[in-house]
Amino acid sequence: MDQYDLLIVGGGPVGLFAAAMAGLHGIRAAIVESLPELGGQLTALYPEKRIFDVAGFTAVTGADLAEALIAQALAYRPALHLGTTAETLAAGEAGGWVLGTSEGALAARAILVTAGLGAFVPRRLPAEGAEAFEGRGVYYIPPALREFRGKDVVVVGGGDTALDWAWEIAQHARRVYLVHRREEFRAQPGSLDRIRQLEAVHLKTSCELRAVRGGDTLTSVVLEHLTDGGEETVEAQAVVSGLGFHAQLGPLKAWGLEFQGSHAIAVNPATMATSLPGIYAAGDIAAYPGKVKLIATGFGEVGIAMGPIRTYLHPELKGALPHSTNLKSAAPSR
Ligand SMILES: Cc1cc2nc3c(=O)[nH]c(=O)nc-3n(C[C@H](O)[C@H](O)[C@H](O)COP(=O)(O)OP(=O)(O)OC[C@H]3O[C@@H](n4cnc5c(N)ncnc54)[C@H](O)[C@@H]3O)c2cc1C
Repeated sequence: MDQYDLLIVGGGPVGLFAAAMAGLHGIRAAIVESLPELGGQLTALYPEKRIFDVAGFTAVTGADLAEALIAQALAYRPALHLGTTAETLAAGEAGGWVLGTSEGALAARAILVTAGLGAFVPRRLPAEGAEAFEGRGVYYIPPALREFRGKDVVVVGGGDTALDWAWEIAQHARRVYLVHRREEFRAQPGSLDRIRQLEAVHLKTSCELRAVRGGDTLTSVVLEHLTDGGEETVEAQAVVSGLGFHAQLGPLKAWGLEFQGSHAIAVNPATMATSLPGIYAAGDIAAYPGKVKLIATGFGEVGIAMGPIRTYLHPELKGALPHSTNLKSAAPSR
């Protein structure tokens, strides 16, 4: 079983900053993230929206902020357990904890829960046969885009995510069918304009994906035209869903932590400690009087938590965290 000083549950902005802070202070950390990619709400919910209240940026898109946070975190080489959902919590050896995950057990002396709204899971495509092709033709997060080279790809959805993916995939694929159940798109107007200029993209509006067909590989899809109920079979080798995600807090609720309301873990705001020893929480999931759910607040909470976590792991290291400028030996090489 892999063993860490600190397991960070959730790879959103707050978990990513926590991984960087842990690395800076010599704490061996791992991130457990249910999605196959890091970034939390920034990448799953609003990659193209601009954020104006993060220190140091006049304006930054969700995707660009996630990219900067990922680079900062990875500079400290935390272990990454992506596509891995934290499910159960049990007492481990010598006061540590064992986290049961969808991919096996992980052990740590301390845990920082930065699970935000809960584990993101994709909204599944309600199309016959789609489940059988998941990961081998049907994707909820696109694989490396070069895999689409020369292929015909169906992208489903009418929001920013679907349009962004259709545009990116169209740079590689032979054809992209953008399938949306309405006539109007919910995306930023500029996204639709740039899509319309691409010859490779074919808009299939007022259409729904009804079935995915194939044998060893995916070969075609069936679309229903909602205006007249007629069906059309389209040759395609891949389907990418842009229907978005929903969040499930589910498993965390059974860990024995004190909750405030039904969606947030109660913490002591002076330390970010939860009701269980060695378990801390920060970001949207953490609750205390006066809590404001902002990225800036989450970063501050990581700053508050990291001192107590360091003292919990190394009781001889008491007192406030030293300034990063006094930690040159711990700074990343790149
Ligand atoms: C449309 C929109 C616009 C916003 N605009 C702003 C803004 O302008 N400024 C601002 O400051 N904030 C904004 N926010 C809020 C901001 O995005 C959140 O405060 C921030 O994302 C919280 O970060 P987090 O890391 O705590 O949680 P999240 O970003 O929610 O990340 C949590 C991560 O934990 C993972 N996870 C959860 N449970 C598990 C589990 N059991 N196992 C494994 N992984 C798990 C999830 O998959 C997710 O990736 C906006 C939010 C939305 C939806």
